[in-house]
Amino acid sequence: MKRLTFLTVIAAAMTAQTVFAASDWRSGIAWTEPPVVTPGEKTSDPPSDAIILFNGKDLSAWEQEKWTVNDDGSMTCKPGSGSLVTKQKFGSVQLHIEFATPEKVNGSGQGRGNSGVFLMNHYEVQVLDSYENKTYFDGQCSSIYKQRAPLVNVCKKPGEWQTYDIIFTRPVLKIEDNKVVETIRPAYITVFQNGVLTVWNHAIEGDTFYHVPPTYQPHGDKEPISLQDHGNLTKFRNIWVREIPDSNQKPPQTQVQFYNDAPR
Ligand code: MG
Repeated sequence: MKRLTFLTVIAAAMTAQTVFAASDWRSGIAWTEPPVVTPGEKTSDPPSDAIILFNGKDLSAWEQEKWTVNDDGSMTCKPGSGSLVTKQKFGSVQLHIEFATPEKVNGSGQGRGNSGVFLMNHYEVQVLDSYENKTYFDGQCSSIYKQRAPLVNVCKKPGEWQTYDIIFTRPVLKIEDNKVVETIRPAYITVFQNGVLTVWNHAIEGDTFYHVPPTYQPHGDKEPISLQDHGNLTKFRNIWVREIPDSNQKPPQTQVQFYNDAPR
């Protein structure tokens, strides 16, 4: 009797599995095949579809080659020379950039290792030495300047190399007579610093001004990326970017959803 019960349970389980496996739901969305991308050896290395902005050799991807290229494959801001601006313009991007604030600590607050990564030359992810260096929280390292404090302070010590991995979706602006008359969709930004999430899907409120509240200013669908000269000897290296779609929406459903027998 015990044996019979055991066999009954096994048989019921097998029947349930057969019924479950017999159906295969398909969405009916005709997705295009994702292109093949070869990843870098390390996640910090550029994948095959990345555009290299700085690989340690020269500043040829930038408008004016005015910052200093160092023998160790890095470059250093030249105070007083102005921002470094890419020749190429970008909209929505995945950006990898490495930076090191000066090992020799000078100044405090906003005066310590200050630079910045400007998406579309308008929206700043702050670069600052925020290792045991207090300032206003929406102005510390990894902030969206004066708009969003980072979730955590994950800064390394002065002089140590750090990483930013930034996902940026460009804003959609209605512009008439060189004025923004409607923000159809704000820009969104997600930042990882040293592999740790610091800004999560933040809706940017406009230009990250120093002196006035943020407002969107007219600009194109693509604009340069720039690095800020804030008078400090901040270093950068290994900068690459991937252009990504402007929207994360699904394509329309063009086929009827269906169930089918699953292949065995
Ligand atoms: Mg800055």
